[in-house]
Amino acid sequence: MKNFPGRSRLFVIILTLLVFLLVMVPFTKSSKSAGRSVGGDISYAKISTDRTYRTVHPGESFSMNVTCRSSRNHPEPDLRFKSSDESVASVSDAGEIQADKAGTAVITCTSQDGQKLRLKLFVRKVPKKVVYLTYDDGPGTHNTPKLLKVLDKYDAKATFFIVGTQAKGNEKIIRQELESGHAVGIHTYTHDYNKIYKSSNAYMKDFDRTADMLQKISGQRAYFVRMPGGSNNGYVRTKTARKIIRDLHDRGYTVMDWTAGSDDAVGIEYGTRALTRFAITTSRGEKVKVILMHDSDAKPHTAAVTRNVIRYYKKRGYSFESLENYTGGDILFLDTPDSGRKKEAKSNAESESLAKRAAMLSALGIIGQPDSE
Ligand SMILES: [Zn+2]
Repeated sequence: MKNFPGRSRLFVIILTLLVFLLVMVPFTKSSKSAGRSVGGDISYAKISTDRTYRTVHPGESFSMNVTCRSSRNHPEPDLRFKSSDESVASVSDAGEIQADKAGTAVITCTSQDGQKLRLKLFVRKVPKKVVYLTYDDGPGTHNTPKLLKVLDKYDAKATFFIVGTQAKGNEKIIRQELESGHAVGIHTYTHDYNKIYKSSNAYMKDFDRTADMLQKISGQRAYFVRMPGGSNNGYVRTKTARKIIRDLHDRGYTVMDWTAGSDDAVGIEYGTRALTRFAITTSRGEKVKVILMHDSDAKPHTAAVTRNVIRYYKKRGYSFESLENYTGGDILFLDTPDSGRKKEAKSNAESESLAKRAAMLSALGIIGQPDSE
């Protein structure tokens, strides 16, 4: 019985180890789980929301829409909502937001375990008359920041149709666009006509890369699409274009060609004055003014032309809004049998003259080239 004290010591060590393991295992498990642990005992479910930027009008109310996949092991945490400016938009304890007057407010949702969601809200007066400025092929590393300054100066909001290859490395600029209250839409990833217009599958595969990128950058999905060259561009077969538009509708996108433009992509290097004149003369008679310009670095006059167009229309009582609250349906050069969606016949009629013009220019080889529209 000489070594009995030794055995007893061993027993005590094993017992201590067992107790230690019993205490520690649940703790390590909970900190690895999907939720977050508080003091090692409760792990709450992760919270998320589908919108990080939103443009609304005074008087509108809506929910912040926080979702939470709770389970027995990960209960729903208590949430606290707060507005950075109660006079612009207030938020209830349940996350119901009420927009009151024009301005900007950041709504935050904080959970009891410290998770945080943010929604930047742009409350805009209901416009009496509106111009939609749209910019394709960007962001341009030098051009877009210059343009953003002009838009900010005149409190003008616009829509940027992003090319995926251009977005790479320019994520900060896209974030800046969103932080300033502009909308971003999708203009494919490669912008390579020979590739994207081979088939609707080829188009959607290319398209999805930019859709995913924008989701990652902005924290929300995009809603608007501009097909390179427009929906009727001489590179895509009508049947293929129709299928692409159907596929985009099925996914909830609005497809936007344009009704006017500065002609900054016609292959001729016009100066600021001529480009301004084109933008104004082509848009003046259009009921829905969707003006096409480009903010890639190859278009050096974009910021100056934009300033001129804004000044012209501001004098005439127009305001400049992003497409976010545009409800008129697609604007298409291509006449498509609609797949169960209500379409604005008016928009089509209005874009008809432009479609003819686009077809003419396309036939002349002036627009529709892979490096232009
Ligand atoms: Zn383009």
